Amino acid sequence: MRRKVIAGNWKMNNDLQQSVNLIEELKSKLANKTLNCDVVICPPFTSLYEAKKIIDGSIIKLGAQNMFYEDSGAFTGEISASMLKSVGCEYVILGHSERRTIFGEKDEMINKKVRKAISQNLKPILCVGETLEEREKDVTEKVVKRQIEKGLNYVTPDEVLNVIIAYEPVWAIGTGKTATPEQAQEVHAFIRKLLASMYSKDFAELIPIQYGGSVKPDNAKELLSQKDIDGALVGGACLKADSFIGIIDAA
Ligand code: PEP
Repeated sequence: MRRKVIAGNWKMNNDLQQSVNLIEELKSKLANKTLNCDVVICPPFTSLYEAKKIIDGSIIKLGAQNMFYEDSGAFTGEISASMLKSVGCEYVILGHSERRTIFGEKDEMINKKVRKAISQNLKPILCVGETLEEREKDVTEKVVKRQIEKGLNYVTPDEVLNVIIAYEPVWAIGTGKTATPEQAQEVHAFIRKLLASMYSKDFAELIPIQYGGSVKPDNAKELLSQKDIDGALVGGACLKADSFIGIIDAA
């Protein structure tokens, strides 16, 4: 049985005090719940250290939104995997479509990051997904296949069990447009089959595949009840405790 993972990608939102307020509210509202999913928050780098102090002893886990693949050195503005570990991160989002489009990250670079994260015991959340143009040209599967094959290049079967895939159609991110549960399930099933061909059916059954793209409390239940949808990567709706918790409740 795969356990669902609900992760909140805060993006470039919330200064330190706003982060503290949101995490304290989340922690107290989740305190009496028995959950059958994992909950991960991914605040900005500047809030990670304080976030870890607040979530200690709770069920909330910590992730970052990006990292670089080198260990240290002259990489101005970058953050290493071991730095993320040192402030208590267990997860790191890699290859988010905003990193790919705004910052020009390519599959090869994302693959180096995935491998570095795994080597440092961080669980990568590898984001993949097609643009609207690619969907309209009917190349969704081709694009997702390339992103996964290249993103997981040299990742061994043992290592891949630490990876989470997030299928996020770019046209559904921050737009209010959600893939229908059937559209999402179709791509998730394709990804599972692809993972089976790259590793094995047994391994593919163990890898969580999250859906991301305008997930909200009122569409989460239907999406999360699809056979191959194992959680959600949530942007906008994770910035308010009640809507993030609504999605967690749906899971
Ligand atoms: C995201 O950025 O990963 C995302 C899914 O954003 P939103 O939920 O706002 O569409």
